[in-house]
Amino acid sequence: MENKRDYYEVLGVQKGASDDEIKKAYRRLAKQYHPDLNKDNPDAADKFKEASEAYDVLSDSEKRSRYDQFGHAGVDPNAGFGGGGYSGGFGGFDVGDIFESFFGGGFGGGRARRNGPARGRDIQQAIELTFEEAAFGCKKKVTVIRGEKCTECSGSGAKKGTSPEKCSRCNGTGQVRSVQNTPFGQFASTSACNQCGGKGSTIKEPCPTCNGSGQTRERRVIEVDIPKGIDHGQTFAVHGEGEAGTRGGGNGDLLITVYVKESSVFRRDGFNVYVDVPITFVQATLGCEIEIPTIDGKVLQKIPEGTQPGTKFRLKGRGIPATRGTSRGDQYVRIIVEIPKNLSAKQREILQKFADESNEKNYNQRKKFTEKLKEYFK
Ligand SMILES: [Zn+2]
Ligand SMILES: [Zn+2]
Repeated sequence: MENKRDYYEVLGVQKGASDDEIKKAYRRLAKQYHPDLNKDNPDAADKFKEASEAYDVLSDSEKRSRYDQFGHAGVDPNAGFGGGGYSGGFGGFDVGDIFESFFGGGFGGGRARRNGPARGRDIQQAIELTFEEAAFGCKKKVTVIRGEKCTECSGSGAKKGTSPEKCSRCNGTGQVRSVQNTPFGQFASTSACNQCGGKGSTIKEPCPTCNGSGQTRERRVIEVDIPKGIDHGQTFAVHGEGEAGTRGGGNGDLLITVYVKESSVFRRDGFNVYVDVPITFVQATLGCEIEIPTIDGKVLQKIPEGTQPGTKFRLKGRGIPATRGTSRGDQYVRIIVEIPKNLSAKQREILQKFADESNEKNYNQRKKFTEKLKEYFK
């Protein structure tokens, strides 16, 4: 999420670029970086993905206007959702889908290779935490519904006692080679074998438990360790708890985005905690000892005589624990001096007496200001 390049910059177009310019820029980059045409360039896949993501947003007028207003946060599937209990289906786009819709599958791209190990997809979940749970970390149970390797056929998809057979058309490779004419010229490409659907094998008798897919949908309750120090809108991965991979591919991850409820007492910025503490004008004048709330509990704090409104002090190391390591942020306390309202006649009388007893030595700021005014209007 961080350090993401500006989508306009990614496509190399101006902010006010027309739909046509955006489309052209994307076509050019997609052609330049398509993974099938860049087997020797490991960065190409990332560039391709970046361009596709930028195109996905900028080609959609609604997403584009949100992006223009709020930047990446406006279109980030991991941010900006409201409320807890939202689970799954963030609507992440699929590069393959975009590519196919764009080129009509002309390249027979990445999706053609269906017979190699494929990592399972990640699953996205959101979870709601209290301020303190996010600060100190906690354990939470998360329910996911995910594909798991079918136990009946061990993931082969073939009925118990049988096994998948090598596809005769593609000789088990899952691919057939062909030459394609595209708007950019001729490309020799491979595409999925249509006899086996790119799997390289065919199943005569499908496993009845998984209907030949090799996977079954399972509902699982997973206990997750929420890391300490995590903040609102952040996402962390629970490795291997996503969708099962296929043909020996690893599992996807479970990606959990946290939504942190506001605290009635504390505010947070990074790892620092902020709290406003109101005291009476008498306490501020005479000095006192007050209880300050911290996320570890109360601490006693001496407030000196003559403390002014807005006075700030720091409680070192009383902030949020850092996500890694043992350090902690600080807590910043701001003193609010409350001026009393709804005075009784007696209170007024006492205060008036107090005022009659007061002199300019009691009010240094007032004294300086009066002198400045005199000078100014001389
Ligand atoms: Zn099965
Ligand atoms: Zn085949």
